[in-house]
Amino acid sequence: MSRTAETGGTAKPGRGQLFIVSAPSGTGKTTLIERLVRTVPGLRMSRSYTSRPVREGEQDGVDYQFISRAAFEERIARGAFLEWADVFGNYYGTSRDDTERVLAGGEDLVLVIDVQGARQVRALGLVHTAVFVLPPSAAILEQRLRGRSRDSEEQIRRRLDVARDEVADASSYDYVVINDEVDPCVERLRGIVAAERARIARMRDEIDRVTCTFRSDA
Ligand code: 5GP
Repeated sequence: MSRTAETGGTAKPGRGQLFIVSAPSGTGKTTLIERLVRTVPGLRMSRSYTSRPVREGEQDGVDYQFISRAAFEERIARGAFLEWADVFGNYYGTSRDDTERVLAGGEDLVLVIDVQGARQVRALGLVHTAVFVLPPSAAILEQRLRGRSRDSEEQIRRRLDVARDEVADASSYDYVVINDEVDPCVERLRGIVAAERARIARMRDEIDRVTCTFRSDA
């Protein structure tokens, strides 16, 4: 995949910022990011496509865009995904067009994707900020996975094995947040978004607007 004029290069004023959040399964990232986007204006959570079956309580078009494996593969073939991955035997991917539409519209977007997807976004050279959410420990992650009692023993073992590989990637991200308690963790995420929004490259228009009021002929 190639880096495009719209998505590559440096930050552009007026264009939304791209955030990536990765975390091992069971870390509670969906709860965190749902709270984050509810309380931060101008920030949206991306809705991924997946080939996995709908779980109880989930809604098509709300939690994910649920499509068949064949439909997913057809989308892969025509390059419709910015990134995609096979996670626990199911496909998950981020639509290239949906991402572009939100960013071009000036809103910031959070992709909640696994480490394979995050690596693809990095390889594309897209301007983004990557945040890794760590559980407080392996034992607490295991407790949380057992607590939600959705998975078989074998699935829990598999998720813990995958988590071990994923946490090894944490130091390649820009920020790390430990999900010990929800509220303080959301607060730290809000701080990261605020810091990224205040970067000089993002503030060029504001800087010009204020500095020109200091001109003697203003
Ligand atoms: P779940 O099936 O539990 O909702 O999600 C399983 C895993 O898939 C999570 O680690 C989640 O971050 C990841 N995931 C969800 N959407 C995407 C996506 O669009 N791309 C990638 N690469 N991973 C995703």
